[in-house]
Formats: sequence, C-alpha cells, structure tokens
Amino acid sequence: ARPDAALRARAEIDLAALRANVRALRERAPGAALMAVVKADAYGHGAIPCARAAVEAGATWLGTATPQEALALRSAAAGLPDDVRIMCWLWTPGGPWREAVEARLDVSVSAPWALTEVVEAARAAGVPARVQLKADTGLGRNGCQPGADWDELVAAALRAEAEGLLRVTGLWSHFARADEPGHPSIAAQLTRFREMTAQAERQGLRPEVRHIANSPATLTLPDTHFDLVRPGIAMYGVSPSPEIGTPADFGLRPVMTLAASLALVKQVPGGHGVSYGHHYTTPGETTLGLVPLGYADGIPRHASSTGPVLVDGKWRTVAGRIAMDQFVVDLGGDRPGPGAEAVLFGPGDRGEPTAEDWAQAAGTIAYEIVTRIGSRVPRVYV
Ligand code: PLP
Repeated sequence: ARPDAALRARAEIDLAALRANVRALRERAPGAALMAVVKADAYGHGAIPCARAAVEAGATWLGTATPQEALALRSAAAGLPDDVRIMCWLWTPGGPWREAVEARLDVSVSAPWALTEVVEAARAAGVPARVQLKADTGLGRNGCQPGADWDELVAAALRAEAEGLLRVTGLWSHFARADEPGHPSIAAQLTRFREMTAQAERQGLRPEVRHIANSPATLTLPDTHFDLVRPGIAMYGVSPSPEIGTPADFGLRPVMTLAASLALVKQVPGGHGVSYGHHYTTPGETTLGLVPLGYADGIPRHASSTGPVLVDGKWRTVAGRIAMDQFVVDLGGDRPGPGAEAVLFGPGDRGEPTAEDWAQAAGTIAYEIVTRIGSRVPRVYV
C-alpha cells in the first residue's frame, strides 16, 4: 500500500518536475530573468513550496495578484531568500500598502490616484516604494491607457521619484491573446508596449525591467521576452491552450496528480439510477466505485457524465452527477478491491487523464481545473 493511502484523496505535487519546468522555461528565454507566477496558491499547487522550488531552479522574481499573497511570501516563515523580488499586481484601494512598502514588494499601479496612495504609504513608512507602472496595450482590463493618461502617470511617478518617495522598478503589460498563435492583436500589443515604454523612457524613467510575456509568449514568442518573463501555467506543466501544444512539446511535465482511494465498491443490478437526478442508469448488472471527491473539492460539476478517471489501468467515466463530496464511476465487469486507486489526472505516463482532459470534459480551461482543487484536498509534496 502507498504510505499515503490512508488519505481520502490527495493532490501529489512533484516539485522536481516544477524545478525542471522552470529550468526549461529559462532556456526558452535565456536573456531574461524569470518571475515565477505563484498567485492563487500557486495555481492550487501550494504557494510557499512552489515558490521555494522555483527560486531553487533560478527564478529571481515571484509574482502574485494580491498584496496579501505577496506579504505571505515575504514572511520569515516562507523561508525564501531575502533578496528575491516579489511583485503583486492587483491594486485595490485601501490595501496594505504601507506593509507592502516596508516588505520591499514591487507594487503595480495603473492610475495616478493609486500612485498617490502608494506614495503616501511610502511617506508614512519612511522607505521609498518600489512601483511598476502597468500599461494597457490592448487587454482592456487593468493598466493605464496610452496617450495623455500614460503621460500623466509617468509624470506623477517622476515627481515622486524626485522626492525620494518611490523608485519605478518596472514598466509592464499583459497579453490578451498570446495563446492564439499568429493572432494580429499580439503584434499590435507589442508595438504599443514598445511605444509606451519608449515614451516613458523619453520622459526620464529608467526602469530595471520591462515585461509582458506570460506562458504562451515565453514558450512561443521570443521577441516578447524583454528583460523578464512571467510564466504561470507552464511552470506547473500544463499547456496554456491546445493551439500552443502539449506540455511535452516544450519539455514540460505536469506537476499535480489528483488521486483518491475508492471509498466503496459494490455490485448493483441493471436499471439502477446513480446519483442525484438519476442522470445515469446502469445498463446491466455492474460494479460501481465511489470516488470521495466532489465539487466542494473543485471537481467541476460540468464534468458530470464526462470526466475521465483511471481505475485499475482503464479509463472510466463519471457516472451521473458529481455531488459535493463524491461521485461514482461504473467499473463494468471489473471488481477492484476497496481502496483501489482512482487517478483523475496527472502527467499521463501511467495512462491517466491529464488536467487538459478534464478541462475538455468540463468545457473549461486547464488553469481552472488545477487552481480550483479545494483546501480539503491535502497537497502531498513528492
Ligand atoms: N502575468 C499576469 C499579470 C497574470 O495575471 C498571469 C496569470 O494570469 C500571468 C502573468 C501568468 O499567466 P500564464 O499562467 O498564462 O503564464
């Protein structure tokens, strides 16, 4: 029996694979620093262990969405080197900006009023803030519009720099469609990014880093690498999109394996309704296996009747609805003993499905599959 067989279910996290993925990504962007994106608990893989592994493999920056996530990485308990740079990009009014400045986080701002709040935090802390200005080059989400808005933001940052209250450490942006090879918006965003950074530099800013590349851009668009690349999903060995390719195409290995021991195996007659709503009825006498994972654990309910599971070397399909804590698979003529393993997804080399297979079954993206695995599922680091 496996040493962890007593666990109801577990997400095994292969940190050696994560380290190898970081090294592979660094080879794709040899002239650039690497920011390991570890927001959302490292896409469900565990922020602190993954951040440590990424830094061991050569990441010199860590990226998060919220300042709270970034502060947790800066805390002594995280055990990360003091000089690792930590950037957070989800600015919200009234955030913990003084703590962020004191913790030497790189904070992203997209508007002068956000800059003012960070400058006030720096004044209170008596330490200059590290600020990265975000340009909206075409994503239409966060970021400052080009033209007069950008001029004004850059000018405000220069004034605060002159007062010694901040240092503009970076100019950056984010792609909308880098996962669609050849899409004209990629070149358009890149041109705008070049224009906006050049303009800021003409006004007098001297940023340490300019960056725009997420995973698909890091993997397939070398002219987007600039000074730093910011891969997230690829570091976890998951493909950004089927159009980009499989993880193996880029020498990447999936980091997470989601597995559970069957909680019950039982014989039922034909015509037996299975799970809420009886969306599945056994076609004949058969064996049902109970998998102790449900939508509260992040298993997408949209994959009811479609999600694939490996049991005893064979792919089985979710039978009927996925419930909050459990779902059923029809094992046909097989009769595995109780405790037999059900593997929902993993690297695929034991024949198991991948996170991409679950994304397809649920009509979503693989990002969502790994990121939503709930806190009730222990992460086991192997
Ligand atoms: N940079 C920013 C600002 C992001 O929000 C994200 C994630 O969405 C990433 C980089 C990493 O993206 P990906 O996981 O596609 O590499």
